[in-house]
Amino acid sequence: MIVSLFGMNRQVQAAGFVDVPARALNEVNYLVEGKIVNGSSPTTFTPDKVITKAEAAVFIGRALQLNGTQRATGFPDVGMSNFASGYIQSAVDKGIVSGDKAGNFLPYKEVTRGEMAVMLANAFGYSYNNTVSGAEKALMTLGIASGLSNGTFGTDLPIKRADFAVFMARAINPAFRLKTSVNFTKPLWSTTGNLNIRTGPSTEYSSVGTIAANTQVTGAHSVGGWTYVKMGSKTGFISNYYLRSASSDGAAKPPATDSSDSKLSSQTIILDPGHGGKDSGAVGNNLREKDVVLKAGLQVNNLLKKTPFNVKMTRSTDTFIELKDRSAFAKDNGGDIFVSIHANSASSAAATGTETYYYAAANPHAADSKLLSSKIQARMLDAWNLRDRGVKPGNFSVLRENNMPAALVEMGFISNAGDASKMASDYWMNIMSIAIYNGILDYYKAKGYNVNSLYK
Ligand SMILES: [Zn+2]
Repeated sequence: MIVSLFGMNRQVQAAGFVDVPARALNEVNYLVEGKIVNGSSPTTFTPDKVITKAEAAVFIGRALQLNGTQRATGFPDVGMSNFASGYIQSAVDKGIVSGDKAGNFLPYKEVTRGEMAVMLANAFGYSYNNTVSGAEKALMTLGIASGLSNGTFGTDLPIKRADFAVFMARAINPAFRLKTSVNFTKPLWSTTGNLNIRTGPSTEYSSVGTIAANTQVTGAHSVGGWTYVKMGSKTGFISNYYLRSASSDGAAKPPATDSSDSKLSSQTIILDPGHGGKDSGAVGNNLREKDVVLKAGLQVNNLLKKTPFNVKMTRSTDTFIELKDRSAFAKDNGGDIFVSIHANSASSAAATGTETYYYAAANPHAADSKLLSSKIQARMLDAWNLRDRGVKPGNFSVLRENNMPAALVEMGFISNAGDASKMASDYWMNIMSIAIYNGILDYYKAKGYNVNSLYK
């Protein structure tokens, strides 16, 4: 397959670059095709320059199709005008890369091979024990990296742009790997006809063929919103928007992948759709908050029901529940995390955006509550692409009176016509529910659980 896609006729200089060495030529070509990497000028890739943290964040962010819009970040040394500010913040939100202990990002710091391994392991969801050596081992096991001739990984050695591109191309497309055995384990079905299988994870990549509606394929890993699939002799990428899993129409539980299932089944997730019954919550644009958040809660519940996690809802019907009874329910049911779902409202119809609250006053769960909130917030932003109003401390009863990591999400403003149009749409509500679900998984992943097979 690699021959037909990247055969000898492609052995030409990459996209006008005159300086890419042969060892990285196919890989740089591949990433240029997907608009994932760029040169330092139209003719130079500067392959031997050591890659910086900012450049690495941009390359990874483009590959995963993260939000790259330049914006304010949480780092004093990355201003909004920094070319990489958007991708840096998105990559940090997703736990792919982080700042230093002093709270700086150090965008121009040169990346080492060990740091590269950790970034790629985080970006592509490899299981590793949150150590540099674990990440290096994960990359070597998959054939993405190999050790140096001296038998070490070269953990502290700087990594050049060309080599970073090679490792990224291998992480994205197994055809580039040092060993190409791929586990296609996830049964998936196409939801539309004439669906392209592409050589890479975006519409920038060429099609290697099309499949009909309701065709079964088997999936391996995902890159951003695309899954690497196999159908017959063809392999390539399909957008997740056009794939459904067996589980999504209730046919089957996702395959139990390993013994971590027992760890997941020890966890109870409490979903708390706000308001209900006589309490409509916010109203606007012909919508009632209690209905919108119940719909989202039920959808997230359905997704979690198909995993080994336990899930309980404070309400699954249109009933009124006192605030104190919500946190009491969570405690009584042995909840491990608590997610309250709301829609916002403001007197100004212009107010828009997504925000998430956690209880920040001194308590044993403040850090995890913030982590949970950040993970869900990042997914919600990707889902609806509304204004990022941030992850904020909030003194809400359901957060304050709880004794577990807790987050209160405000999906958008029911009082804003644009936000409300998404709440009125089955399509957009489904996207939001998947986002909350994936955000919960992101939290567990950050806590060391193996949830990779559960992502939607
Ligand atoms: Zn509310």
